[in-house]
Amino acid sequence: MNIHEYQTKELIKSYGVPVPDGRVAHNVDNAVTVAEDLGGERWVVKAQIHAGGRGKGGGVKVASSLDEVRQFTDQMIGSQLVTPQTGENGRLVQRVLVEQACDIKKEYYLGMIIDRGSQRITVIASASGGMDIEEVAKTQPEKVIREAVDPAVGLMEFQCRKIAANIGLRGKQIHEASKLMRALYKCFREKDALLAEINPLAEMNDGSLMALDAKMSFDGNALYRRPSITEFRDFDEEDPKEVEASGHGLNYIALDGNVGCIVNGAGLAMATMDSISFHKGKPANFLDVGGGASPEKVGNAFRIVLQDPNVKIILVNIFAGINRCDWIAEGLIKAMQDQKIEVPVVVRLAGTNVEKGAAMLEESGLDFIMAENLDDAATRVMAILGGQAS
Ligand code: ADP
Ligand code: MG
Repeated sequence: MNIHEYQTKELIKSYGVPVPDGRVAHNVDNAVTVAEDLGGERWVVKAQIHAGGRGKGGGVKVASSLDEVRQFTDQMIGSQLVTPQTGENGRLVQRVLVEQACDIKKEYYLGMIIDRGSQRITVIASASGGMDIEEVAKTQPEKVIREAVDPAVGLMEFQCRKIAANIGLRGKQIHEASKLMRALYKCFREKDALLAEINPLAEMNDGSLMALDAKMSFDGNALYRRPSITEFRDFDEEDPKEVEASGHGLNYIALDGNVGCIVNGAGLAMATMDSISFHKGKPANFLDVGGGASPEKVGNAFRIVLQDPNVKIILVNIFAGINRCDWIAEGLIKAMQDQKIEVPVVVRLAGTNVEKGAAMLEESGLDFIMAENLDDAATRVMAILGGQAS
């Protein structure tokens, strides 16, 4: 789960990471009040969306008067902000962060991720931070340094000093950077983060360091034990189909193909997507209806899958163990009757009560296309689509 910049800053500040003074604003008057409260002569107005690259897309603006704060906020709130990370439709801006403008001497990059290779939280840092870090990582990878953290002892002081020295910090900045890194690491561990990114980590004119931009992402499977993080969830930033699915206890992930998938079990759902891809098709989604898929759940699954206008056919693949094929069949028949499903539905059933389930579908008189096995199901799907992947 991703959170906004202003939320990340609030969180890491509570751990001791220095961030500029600032507050979120939901409308123009709000933004001016925040600027007045902050005082000073220059402020930065920053669009809050779950995507980076805002500086390049006009979503970060320095205001030199309260009028400009008003003007920039007015331009941003309600607009679709397009950045290199949003796709061409952009993201709707619903709030801005108004914060003090800082005099930056130099921009560094500091990140933490869980590196799957080493299975360790890994610190990533670079002296070439700022808006072009992606380009630096591509063309000059030697400018990006990495340091893996041993989970038994955590991020050690000597590692922080090494990283700080390697990106060119000197003297008391090394101590300052170490404190900052350890604070960020503590937050990362305690809140079950998957990623933390401070870009830029800015050196001010007086040599001090501050997190000018901050992004964190958290493990969705750990949210049950992190209520303070769950509160940061912004449903407006998520695919409404995914939000609705999670409310019904369904694991749904939207993809960009045209074959809707309704499957029980995450592994079987992956295998189904593989099989579709193997036959040169493209799945429209991942969907796991879970072990005890009741007829209601199957109905909800159909509704969610069909909200995607790209779906041209649905493949239902059930291997019933705990589940029962007759239950699934009941759900399928009800969904077909209630929801006026116009796309072809290919069904592969196996496992507990399969004969009963298949007989129910047969006797329903509805237009289910029955498949023998998964490969047969994918073959039928592609035959109906005429080999068209999208
Ligand atoms: P994004 O990564 O989405 O482009 P950032 O928050 O990193 O957004 O802002 C882009 C650039 O704007 C930064 O690299 C920095 O140079 C400048 N900037 C951001 N916040 C401030 C601030 N409070 N004061 C001065 N400059 C800032
Ligand atoms: Mg940034």
